[in-house]
Amino acid sequence: MEGEQRPAPYQGLFADGHLVLYTLCSVLLPVFITFWCSLQRSRRQLHRRDIFRKSKHGWRDTDLFSHPTYCCVCAQHILQGAFCDCCGLRVDEGCLKKADKRFHCKEIMLKNDSRALDAMHHHWIRGNVPLCSYCVVCKQQCGSQPKLCDYRCIWCQKTVHDECMKSSLRNEKCDFGEFRNLIIPPSYLTCINQMRKDKKTDYAMLASKLGKQWTPLIVLANSRSGTNMGEGLLGEFRILLNPVQVFDVTKTPPIKALQLCTLLPFHSARVLVCGGDGTVGWVLDAVDEMKIKGQEKYIPQVAVLPLGTGNDLSNTLGWGTGYAGEIPVAQVLRNVMEADGIKLDRWKVQVTNKGYYNLRKPKEFTMNNYFSVGPDALMALNFHAHREKAPSLFSSRILNKAVYLFYGTKDCLVQECKDLNKKVEVSF
Ligand SMILES: [Zn+2]
Ligand SMILES: [Zn+2]
Ligand SMILES: [Zn+2]
Ligand SMILES: [Zn+2]
Repeated sequence: MEGEQRPAPYQGLFADGHLVLYTLCSVLLPVFITFWCSLQRSRRQLHRRDIFRKSKHGWRDTDLFSHPTYCCVCAQHILQGAFCDCCGLRVDEGCLKKADKRFHCKEIMLKNDSRALDAMHHHWIRGNVPLCSYCVVCKQQCGSQPKLCDYRCIWCQKTVHDECMKSSLRNEKCDFGEFRNLIIPPSYLTCINQMRKDKKTDYAMLASKLGKQWTPLIVLANSRSGTNMGEGLLGEFRILLNPVQVFDVTKTPPIKALQLCTLLPFHSARVLVCGGDGTVGWVLDAVDEMKIKGQEKYIPQVAVLPLGTGNDLSNTLGWGTGYAGEIPVAQVLRNVMEADGIKLDRWKVQVTNKGYYNLRKPKEFTMNNYFSVGPDALMALNFHAHREKAPSLFSSRILNKAVYLFYGTKDCLVQECKDLNKKVEVSF
């Protein structure tokens, strides 16, 4: 046994040290790399957010562009990056800072002192023109090549080929295109600003230069409505109109947004509410508040783009039961331009408890009167209750009508609504 050699104690330690070092490396290195990557990512995000905050563009991040997209700076094909939801510029992350410095966004008010209403030239940006757009010069399809090419004016949405772009087009005045009667031109706001400084309020004179057809549109959208569809719609309206006339009601309450009407001529403004019945009610309440403030002359006409679930009011007014992108936003604007106004019956209702110990305060509600009281309401209620119990039975339209007929006939015989006028008191 004496001949056996024992390993020297330091040799064993050395081997153990190796093992420990190896284990530490294999565990700590991936942790360190992951940590370093996430640190870099959050630094990049902070940097990007910083650019977004200071920028005049309305930059938004996207993980995947929906159409083939090319960076407006390096002209490379890109899948993800940022886009401006006012002017439509698209850029990859690396070129964001350059793009932000190099390109101007839509100016909501003109900086220079040109106060003439027709002083604006086209504002062309290159590349990423919408699919199916046509050149204003040669009338051929634009933007069909797989590269950064062709131009679009961010105000009138006209498009032109690279080779058709001439200096005459660059210097041409912009007429704001198809939606000129809905757009508030930046020069108009510059003039108004000056008039307010001079304490003049005759906006009608100024607006007369924009034509009798000019009925500027204010868009009030709820970005949370319709499974966040409102967010995308806000961007699409900002691209087609002046961004100053598009509001997110979750950030700017309707009463504040509607103050823009007071800078427009009397009875000229229209408002498009994008949201469910709740949002429409909120805007109508703000309109009522304008009346209280003595701003009757500025009260706008209200159109609805129904998002969300409860859209009864929108349906009654002829704007449909729900919008899920079936028609392009441009078509929505055309519908608003062609719409006729009707009056809506709105009541203030006070509900008072008539018990002996009447401790509760009377409650006040605003009611849009598109419901009815009496036998037909009872019929609808009975129908609704029945459908709630057995929804599967109500899948056929004809069957539904038959059920309606049944309840109608039943009420004729039973007369549950008899002497309703004696039971209900309506006061104004
Ligand atoms: Zn780039
Ligand atoms: Zn922009
Ligand atoms: Zn233009
Ligand atoms: Zn052309």
